[in-house]
Amino acid sequence: MKLEIVGLECKVPEEIVSFLHSEIPSMNIEVHEIRDASKIKERSYDPSRGQYNAELILIELSKFRKKRELILGIMEGDLFVRGFNFVFGLASPKLGAGLVSIHRLGSGEILVERLKKEVLHEIGHLLGLKHCSDPKCVMYFSNTVRDTDEKDAKFCPMCSRSMMMAFSNEV
Ligand SMILES: [Zn+2]
Ligand SMILES: [Zn+2]
Repeated sequence: MKLEIVGLECKVPEEIVSFLHSEIPSMNIEVHEIRDASKIKERSYDPSRGQYNAELILIELSKFRKKRELILGIMEGDLFVRGFNFVFGLASPKLGAGLVSIHRLGSGEILVERLKKEVLHEIGHLLGLKHCSDPKCVMYFSNTVRDTDEKDAKFCPMCSRSMMMAFSNEV
């Protein structure tokens, strides 16, 4: 399975890529720049909220996706989904596209640690995983960065099994 990570006018930290290589070794990960990133952001910006519509960005991202590949965008702007004040990220297994914002993740080392978890979480969703009730599991739903800090950058045994099944179902 191949995953393309794209920075939407945002640098993808090297640590994230090496982390994913070690955490999901069976996934083939490539990092790319995406042209028209500023247009995608412009089109999805909601001036009344001062935030970006995550669902619109997922649709745009899915257009860049090659057959049978997954795509995950990383960006700086704040994201929202209808019904929520904000979201750290969003993924649609149907579109094969995911998105994470670094906007609320702080800076420096802590940003990288949180980003690892948010990215792994959205990849889990892309592979069909739902939220997990274990607060230590990376698939636990983060309401605040405190939730993100509390959880580990790994799947609990049950979610690991679901991940393995997702990989074995895919040929
Ligand atoms: Zn989630
Ligand atoms: Zn879990």
